[in-house]
Amino acid sequence: GMPATPPVTLADRRKTRQLQVGPVGVGSDHPVSVQSMTTTVTADVNATLQQIAELTAAGCDIVRVACPSADDAEALPAIARKSKIPVIADIHFQPKYVFAAIEAGCAAVRVNPGNIKKFDDKVGEIARAAKDHGTPIRIGVNAGSLDARLMRKYGKATPEALAESALWEASLFAEHDFHELKISVKHNDPVVMIRAYEILAEQCDYPLHLGVTEAGPAFQGTVKSAVAFGALLRQGIGDTIRVSLSAPPVEEVKVGAQILQSLNLRPRKLEIVSCPSCGRAQVDVYKLADEVTAGLEGMEVPLRVAVMGCVVNGPGEAREADLGVASGNGKGQIFVKGEVVKTVPESKIVETLIEEALSLAETMDEQ
Ligand code: SF4
Repeated sequence: GMPATPPVTLADRRKTRQLQVGPVGVGSDHPVSVQSMTTTVTADVNATLQQIAELTAAGCDIVRVACPSADDAEALPAIARKSKIPVIADIHFQPKYVFAAIEAGCAAVRVNPGNIKKFDDKVGEIARAAKDHGTPIRIGVNAGSLDARLMRKYGKATPEALAESALWEASLFAEHDFHELKISVKHNDPVVMIRAYEILAEQCDYPLHLGVTEAGPAFQGTVKSAVAFGALLRQGIGDTIRVSLSAPPVEEVKVGAQILQSLNLRPRKLEIVSCPSCGRAQVDVYKLADEVTAGLEGMEVPLRVAVMGCVVNGPGEAREADLGVASGNGKGQIFVKGEVVKTVPESKIVETLIEEALSLAETMDEQ
């Protein structure tokens, strides 16, 4: 048959060097990937692997685990070996755990150089070990742990200070002919963060990992991350993303995946087109939309399901979607591929939509 037309995107990706984080390619030749971080104690191997499995199921491409103690470092080989997605070890303060993580077969190591004491003397050694094992390094600069020298120079964590810090750390690795780097410059203020990444994007060709750090609880963090990532991805900036929420990491992954899907940077899956409801609504649209969303959760095929409160815009939207309901008068007209297939009482709308969605999904799977 005809090849599918690629979906419209807003920008070409900024050209970067390419990295391999385990089997996942990172950089402009590869799709933008979603990352998250486990919240379990890393030394608890079973709990950590269980959470990684949940994140993987939710659409996580790469996972990061904290490594604050020797017990955590000892758990890394088992976690790296058994995880279905590449594992990045997150190291603060202690270079010895960087070596342990590289030896453990972690797919990459994240270091916060501002936090690693006497880091400068260790760069050569770290670069050599990483090169020997083919392990990329992420330089993760955080506003909260900015290098003292730059704090003195700029007075606070400005976009320029964050970018300069990251580029300086990268240059230390480059002096040792090590370029397998990914950079992040996180700040809790989306405006500062956006500017910092724009500066970096102009001044280097390393892949960039986007994050608004300490973004807050789910609602605020979701909005901050979505606007910041949108502003950058719209310019083609960003190769991996992590939504930071004060909420379970599965929620971070769902938000990250949804951001990429919304920008056509990841194939769309289930999409619920539901109306906001208004004084014309003849059914409880919120409840209907929630129940349909819950009933179809985890659906892997790109299905647009319209849930509309009345017959004004209802039939039109429901026809445009693969499947939909336009409600009115205590009944729901069920549309499949633009045709009314049945009219059911309000109490049967949800189950009918779910049935129809599942049978549509089956025919799509066969294609
Ligand atoms: Fe209001 Fe009907 Fe539009 Fe829903 S579809 S917002 S109920 S006019």
